Amino acid sequence: MKAVVMEARGGPEVLRYGDFPTPEPGPMEVRVRIKAAALNHLDIWVRKGVANPRLALPHIPGADASGVVEAVGPGVVGLTVGDEVVINPGLSCGRCERCLAGEDNLCPHYEILGEHRHGTYAQYVVVPAANVAPKPKGLSFEEAAALPLTFLTAWQMVVDKLGVRPGDDVLVMAAGSGVSVAAIQIAKLFGGRVIATAGSEEKLRRAKELGADEVVNYAHPDWYKEVRRLTGGKGADKVVDHTGALYFEGVIKATANGGKIAIAGASSGYEGTLPFAHVFFRQLSILGSTMASKSRLFPILRLVEEGKLRPVVGQILPLEQAAEGHRLLEERRVFGKVVLRVD
Ligand SMILES: [Zn+2]
Repeated sequence: MKAVVMEARGGPEVLRYGDFPTPEPGPMEVRVRIKAAALNHLDIWVRKGVANPRLALPHIPGADASGVVEAVGPGVVGLTVGDEVVINPGLSCGRCERCLAGEDNLCPHYEILGEHRHGTYAQYVVVPAANVAPKPKGLSFEEAAALPLTFLTAWQMVVDKLGVRPGDDVLVMAAGSGVSVAAIQIAKLFGGRVIATAGSEEKLRRAKELGADEVVNYAHPDWYKEVRRLTGGKGADKVVDHTGALYFEGVIKATANGGKIAIAGASSGYEGTLPFAHVFFRQLSILGSTMASKSRLFPILRLVEEGKLRPVVGQILPLEQAAEGHRLLEERRVFGKVVLRVD
């Protein structure tokens, strides 16, 4: 098969388009003919060797995809060749206490497609049958591929960790990112008043189109004061953040007394400074978040089909141009998802 393979750790140039053995499905697995694969920041961390630095090379990155079931392994029921599916990138043992409690993203064997095993920048991928779900009707393959990782991540942050409800002022950092595009919509759906930040007027305009009530340009050093002003001096009750070291102090200062901050990444850097006095004196909760239970994809897909949530595809490139896609993502030049079309 054709695939984009990472032959070393480093810049986008380590991604090479070429031939790779087509994987065979084992028991309880399916092979999906990929039609579209979406990029995530995770792919950049994997490429650089920050995420899973011991990963064996060569490696195929990519967590998200949509496609068509092309072969089913022994024991698979309920899936047929030809089914149009989206791939759920969270992989877990399926039989431990955490998995059986529906907390599979806390499984000791938890893995993410493309981070721990070969991913979706390819014509074919093999995944457990539990990791495919029906593609929502009315969505293109590119739109469907743009859903799983970011909407799962945003769902757990907004719904499960922050418990957003009507009356909450919800700060969503970096509105142009895939996770934030999802978080703005989910927070609105659960009744929050959304304040979105971004670094350009164009991205702020797009955030408003998605439903953000207020927008703040965080290129300004005092951006957090604007968040406080917009909330009557109180700050945001709930915060969705994955921006990392560069903005962390501002995030803390933009949060209301007793507020909750969910963190699902650190795009601008992994090492920041924590102002302890703010945390204990103002009783802030800082909640780490990674992915979501696989089960959360079901309500997400239903809400997408009902038109209440929608993926935002910012740029579509052919699979061969994965390296260019990484550059676009790293330079934050796209609002919404960068998606690779696979022929
Ligand atoms: Zn498990």
